[in-house]
Amino acid sequence: MQTPTLLSIAIHEAGHAVAALADPPRPWIEGVSIIDQPEGWLGYFSCPALWQPYMAEVTAPAEAMEAWRILAWRDVIEYLAGPIAELRWKRYSRAAIWLGADEFAEHCFGERAPEPGSDLGCVRARLEWARPDDERDAFCEAWIETEELVARHWRAIVEIGRLLEKQGRLDGETLKMVWERT
Ligand SMILES: [Zn+2]
Repeated sequence: MQTPTLLSIAIHEAGHAVAALADPPRPWIEGVSIIDQPEGWLGYFSCPALWQPYMAEVTAPAEAMEAWRILAWRDVIEYLAGPIAELRWKRYSRAAIWLGADEFAEHCFGERAPEPGSDLGCVRARLEWARPDDERDAFCEAWIETEELVARHWRAIVEIGRLLEKQGRLDGETLKMVWERT
């Protein structure tokens, strides 16, 4: 695998950011950073997740479960938007990205579980809860939906990525401003 450049890391984080800014926008985006990362982290997009692990621990009425499933799905799209934006930046075609769905589903649900706090780790936790009987199919569905979102908003992703590469960090207000003018 290629070593990621600073710009490809910035594009990855911009993918997360744009998924959170797109319809319906998240209520709170703290910001995004590619500098001063804790050990082992390349970049960090800071936005509270919509689905929370306690939701897996309680027995709630069906309406609540349905609402939480929608939140979990929106989180999944946001987590996948990073890796998919990075693939597109590395010049993988749309078809190649679609065909990669199974391979990434294997990374997500295979024997060697992804790190719990990583993008795929967060996706796994949500889909295991939301779609326990067909989590791999659900993954592929979400993958395609996210690829479409990334393609639709590619200009905004590149613009935010380039600005992030230059400045190292962007707060939520700046992200919103750039998003609204593209
Ligand atoms: Zn990421």
